[in-house]
Formats: sequence, structure tokens, C-alpha cells
Amino acid sequence: MRDAQTTPCAPQTDLQAVLDRIAQEVPEAYGQGHVADYIPELKRVSPQQFGMAVRTVTGEEFVVGAADHQFSIQSISKLFTLILALEINGEELWTRINREPSGMRFNSLLLLESENGIPRNPFINAGAIVVTDTITEHSSGPAKRIEQFIANLSGNPLNRIDERVTASEKKTGYLNAAIANLLKAMGNLRCEPEDVLNCYFKHCAMTMSCRDLVRATQCLANREDAWFQRKPYPHQTARRINALLLTCGLYDAVGNFAFNVGLPAKSGVGGGIVAVAPNQYTVAVWSPELDDYGNSVLGQLALEKFVTYTASAVL
Ligand code: GLU
Repeated sequence: MRDAQTTPCAPQTDLQAVLDRIAQEVPEAYGQGHVADYIPELKRVSPQQFGMAVRTVTGEEFVVGAADHQFSIQSISKLFTLILALEINGEELWTRINREPSGMRFNSLLLLESENGIPRNPFINAGAIVVTDTITEHSSGPAKRIEQFIANLSGNPLNRIDERVTASEKKTGYLNAAIANLLKAMGNLRCEPEDVLNCYFKHCAMTMSCRDLVRATQCLANREDAWFQRKPYPHQTARRINALLLTCGLYDAVGNFAFNVGLPAKSGVGGGIVAVAPNQYTVAVWSPELDDYGNSVLGQLALEKFVTYTASAVL
């Protein structure tokens, strides 16, 4: 039995009041970060915005601010492509990608050469590009397949690839092109780099809201979720993905995030972060100003406040 005192789903915790309080408090951190500008289209987003959503494992939802605003999920898409790639490839995926934090920027090339073209984990760009390669290899329309997969998980057919963001990253994605070419040269890309990158830029350009994100990730919090129950090892799959999120989901800031928040989570340079409290809830936050690690400033602050005010104990 879980301790009711530490369970935010317990009747005595007013989750709406918690979200309202956070929305009042976090604006003090506006101006401490910068909107991502290396993808020109993301630079157009107005910086001082905030939204947050929570979904408990019993299906109750609470939202505040711009929780229904569709934003560019960027690297959060890597969580969904990993789930899909595991469905397609099973254990074989782990012969091509490791499961260790990298301690490097998300788009670093450094480790790839010295580690024989095997990326450290599926959430840094090199790992995510290999994940995308496995989906591209086994699909006639890989980007469409990912788009549908995500829309099915969230239950929102409006979750779509934003073609303007795709084109914008394609124009300036020199580092990702270098990573894909190095992977190909080192024998860890089966499709053509250009095809894999096309699909990668597209899934990064998916738009979702905080509400969509808490719905799409509920299978990671609720092991009885129908979607995972169809898998051969539902508990193991969720446990493994949550472990990767906890150790690799926020790049080289993952240690501090675990220290301050302690939840498995995935961030994206669009300003979103989604986090999972197994057996309790999923929570998503969006605010476009990023710190030097590429993670939302208000997003991290809001999540730290959320686990504190709800006394969520996951670790
Ligand atoms: N599409 C972005 C890139 O590859 C994703 C990075 C992120 O969201 O962290 O640079």
C-alpha cells in the first residue's frame, strides 16, 4: 500500500490549487533564459508563456495557463520514437545504442567517434537518429507513421508535423547532418543519412500541448494502461523507459534535475518538459525560455515546485 500522505492523487491534495499557485509564482523567473534560436522558426515564439497539465493514473486532469497551446515538442518526440522503435525492433535496438548518460551536449559529436559509432543513449541526437533509422528502415512512410503513432497515444488527431519548423531545421541542421554522416561512415545507419534526417527533423517538429503530453505518456505512469498491456512485457518496458528518462532525459543537466525534481522526464528545445511519477501521475509543462543546457527555465522550476507542494515521493 502506498502512503496516502505522499500520494498527490489522495483526496486531500488539491492539485488545481497547486497548479494555480505555481502559475502565480514562476513568472518571477521570466527573462532568465533565451528562446532556442539555432532553429530559426523557434525564434519567432513569444518567450514569456507558461502552461502546465497533470493527469493522475485515475484519469483526472488539471491544467493551468497555456496548457492547450500547441508547441514544438522537439526532443520530447524522441521518447515516442523510442517506444515505437522498441515495438518494431525489440531487444535488437540495444545492440546499436547504449544506455548511459553522455555528460555532453545533446548534439555533441565527440563521443561518437571514440565509441565506435554506438551512441551513449537514445535521447542524445546521435541515439535518436539511430532510433529514427530503425523506424525508417521498416516503414514505407516513416514520418507519417510516427505522426500517427503519437496522435494515437495522445488521442488527439490534431497533433501534426509542423512543416515550417521542419524546413527551418533542415536548412540549418548541419550538426545533425554531421552526426548522421558519421553514423553512416561507422556502420550504424542502415538507411541513407538524408532520408533519416528528413524523418528526424519531421518528428522533432511535431506539435503537441501539455494536455496532449500527459495523455500520451500515461502508459508510463499506469502499468495497467491498455496500450502497454498489449506488449509482451508491459512492466519491464515502462520501467526501462522511465529509467532512461531519469538518467538521460535532460542531457548533461540530468543530475541536477534528478536532484531537484527526482522524476523521469524528457525535455525539448521548444520549451516543453514531460515527467512521469510511476503509479501516480504524468505532468507536462511548457515555457519557451531555455537555460544553457537547452531545458526550459520555468519548466524546471515549476516541476520542482510541483513535487515539493504535492510531496510526491518517487525516488
Ligand atoms: N531538433 C532538435 C535538434 O536536433 C532537438 C533538440 C532538443 O529538443 O533538445 O537539435
